[in-house]
Amino acid sequence: MIEMQDVWKTYPDGTHALKGVSVKVDRNEFVYVVGPSGAGKSTFMKLMYREERPTKGSIFVNGFNLEKLKQRKIPYVRRNIGVIFQDYRLLPKLTVFENVAFAMEVIEAPKKIIKKRTLEVLELVRLKDKIHSLPTQLSGGEQQRVAIARAIVNNPAVIIADEPTGNLDPDTSWGIMKLMEEINFRGTTIVMATHNKEIVNTIRKRVLAIEQGTIVRDEARGDYGYEN
Ligand code: ADP
Ligand code: ADP
Repeated sequence: MIEMQDVWKTYPDGTHALKGVSVKVDRNEFVYVVGPSGAGKSTFMKLMYREERPTKGSIFVNGFNLEKLKQRKIPYVRRNIGVIFQDYRLLPKLTVFENVAFAMEVIEAPKKIIKKRTLEVLELVRLKDKIHSLPTQLSGGEQQRVAIARAIVNNPAVIIADEPTGNLDPDTSWGIMKLMEEINFRGTTIVMATHNKEIVNTIRKRVLAIEQGTIVRDEARGDYGYEN
């Protein structure tokens, strides 16, 4: 599903963010990415959704080599990867419904299908009673649920989540994790960077630890492994 082969990333200012990362993630896995601040977790995630390009090495997502991708295939790959951020990144002037529907409009889905599918995913994240609200009228947990609905609306093969519970209180974070597990259970591969020790040590999954740009630990049902 995802494969990195000897991936290096050096930013233009000379910072070596990743130094020879090789990893494979199979279809339907749930993987936590942990490690200290500045270790390279976000860079690792950004390379997978093609927000950044590697300095060296190759990255395959869903059978496509991201470095040899024909221009016209880029939208196809993008729609197969849903991305969730710590700060939600909803469009502030659009309603909940419009924020989610927009992701389908971008790929030019038919209007009728957009309406049906948007309501379906908003039901899955239990926000059907808030479809006309604006993001500012929602709690942090509700905003993140909208972001999750937007990420899954096009049925991506993979979800990349960069600290999705980072701005949320513990109770709300457990609710978000329950949703992530449900999405994974329905067949979506999930790669999630997190600093949430309690979650990693309770909802046991594969753990990849990154330190100073390299993978230092890769364990099935691993633990968080840091004090915080
Ligand atoms: P993490 O997500 O684990 O905190 P990052 O991937 O954000 O780590 O950062 C890894 C290293 O790369 C850090 O030293 C960080 O300062 C640096 N870095 C991240 N983004 C950039 C950038 N756009 N330009 C230069 N250096 C960057
Ligand atoms: P919601 O906000 O959606 O009602 P909750 O925050 O009550 O959800 O919890 C979501 C799920 O996470 C529930 O199944 C609950 O049992 C579980 N949960 C909540 N707190 C913890 C915890 N400290 N450890 C393990 N599981 C928890």
